[in-house]
Amino acid sequence: MSTRQRYRLRNHSTGREIVLEAEPEEVYLDRDTGEELEVVGKVLPLAPSESRLPWAVEHLRFCPWCRQMAQKDLNDCPTCGRRMGPLGTPARNG
Ligand SMILES: [Zn+2]
Repeated sequence: MSTRQRYRLRNHSTGREIVLEAEPEEVYLDRDTGEELEVVGKVLPLAPSESRLPWAVEHLRFCPWCRQMAQKDLNDCPTCGRRMGPLGTPARNG
């Protein structure tokens, strides 16, 4: 089990992005091209977290309470802490 922070790294010449657990001061190379990867961002949530899903749109849903994004594998919204309904339940106003 790892609690290291995950980062998004990008190869500028190919535009390819990967997510890995990285140390911010280290240099990482693209396994295919050997080119240096640039850190383009941290992957939320910050370690440690209940969720292991990358902070990517395909893993996110909108909290019905506060309308902030949350990972689909979480039961409680990381922003407002309220329990989110089952997936697929349409958010209601009011
Ligand atoms: Zn919320």
